[in-house]
Amino acid sequence: MATQSGNLFIIAAPSGAGKSSLIKALLERHADGTMQVSVSSTTRPPRPGEEDGIHYHFMNVAEFEQRIDAGEFYEWARVFDNYYGTSRKVVEEALQQGIDVFLDIDWQGAQQVREHHPETRSVFIVPPSLEVLESRLRHRGQDSDEVIAKRMAKAQAEMSHYHEFDYLLVNDDFNDTLAQLEHIVLAQRSRMSLQQVRHAETLKELLG
Ligand code: 5GP
Repeated sequence: MATQSGNLFIIAAPSGAGKSSLIKALLERHADGTMQVSVSSTTRPPRPGEEDGIHYHFMNVAEFEQRIDAGEFYEWARVFDNYYGTSRKVVEEALQQGIDVFLDIDWQGAQQVREHHPETRSVFIVPPSLEVLESRLRHRGQDSDEVIAKRMAKAQAEMSHYHEFDYLLVNDDFNDTLAQLEHIVLAQRSRMSLQQVRHAETLKELLG
């Protein structure tokens, strides 16, 4: 059988849309090793509760820039005045092993990934209203009013790119949105080019 390739998904959203919780819940529902989320590198300082190697690989600007120069990033961007990037090696190895990979990245990174990997499916998640977005950001309780105001403005800038994505999910009800995300992922697993390889023997037999 030919090398099996996993599917690459971009999941983008303004912060507060519920993206991380949705990805986490999806991975918990498919805890069979067939899905993984890429852990990004960033120069932003860790928030309370964030762990190095789990939420992000935290590093300083000099180290990040060295990795850019060494071509280690599949994509990278400056978001909120910090660098964020996806490890090329981790993504490519997982895809080669047939694992579906989720990239939790911004619209700038999404544009770069589409160029390298046109089969990527990209999903944009929005909150049902600005009011809900603000209340979700406040309930995190981690950021000052000033940071929240800045994030609200950034959220609107991020959302202005929604139409560049293949799918749009409005995260009003968490379980409904999770089901929609799961359907997108499972449908992609049945795409013709992948199934032709996966089921080559069956197809040969069926067609005689
Ligand atoms: P936060 O600092 O709130 O964790 O993330 C801020 C923004 O950076 C989010 O929109 C998130 O999706 C984006 N981001 C996180 N990791 C990456 C990455 O590796 N590449 C890019 N381009 N954006 C990222």
